[in-house]
Amino acid sequence: MRDFSHDHSALALNTATLGHNVEGHGAGWSPEQVIDACAEMGLGGVVFWRREIGNRATQIGAHAQNVGLKVAGLCRTPFLVGPLAPQPRQAMLDDFEASIDMAAGLGAEVLTIVVGGVEPGTKGIKASLERVADAVARMAPVAAARDVKLALEPLHPVYGGNRSCLVTLKDANDLCDLIDHAVGIVVDVYHVWWDTTLADELKRAGKDRLLGYHLCDWLADTSDVLLDRGMMGDGVADLKAIRQAVEAAGYQGLCEVEIFSARNWWKRPPHEVLQTCIERFRSVC
Ligand code: ZN
Repeated sequence: MRDFSHDHSALALNTATLGHNVEGHGAGWSPEQVIDACAEMGLGGVVFWRREIGNRATQIGAHAQNVGLKVAGLCRTPFLVGPLAPQPRQAMLDDFEASIDMAAGLGAEVLTIVVGGVEPGTKGIKASLERVADAVARMAPVAAARDVKLALEPLHPVYGGNRSCLVTLKDANDLCDLIDHAVGIVVDVYHVWWDTTLADELKRAGKDRLLGYHLCDWLADTSDVLLDRGMMGDGVADLKAIRQAVEAAGYQGLCEVEIFSARNWWKRPPHEVLQTCIERFRSVC
């Protein structure tokens, strides 16, 4: 396992950690300010959300490149199924393509897919996952042509109804097997910390499929499953054991801190948040 105790060059910032992905939250830094702060503080990468980028993808990507910071990813495609997916289906596919274009413009290596919840009019997750497979298979060649890697992110089952009918790493592996194109997986400790099959499914995914690793913590007394994630070390996830399993499966990429925290971390100055992320990354991750 890599030793991060004196080195945080493998740490990446997901801008959700500064509240920038939700209207009315965060310090309001521009993408350029975020990039400069991450570069100055020695991080290795940054991951943006689409709402921050607008039509400036190329410009922002060039700025990151100029200061030597990697744009590791972009969040995210539209929901592909479920009650929050764009309607009609063609509008969803058009927006999916727009997200691929933005990732390509930014020079982002990975575009995250959060698949969406259970399709209205259906029950359970099976039919919805089949539709997800169909949509991803359609868009995979478009992404490949733009040099963007697609990565499925399974979410905690608490989001199963409306945000992600993909809730386990096992199902993500099954979905990748089903789709006849190269599609990867992103592993987020918030969503998988409870899963006792994790190490086996990570091995099954292997180096080629594992395209990202997200850090935060699950607070024992969490008050909001969407916006009350914990700072690494403040919760119940066994972060070192999870990273050990992720790296044993072959992953050697960036570790992306992604903390949605409306009542705590989003209220603090960004430099304090970043400094705390660095300290916790070196000590408890
Ligand atoms: Zn994540």
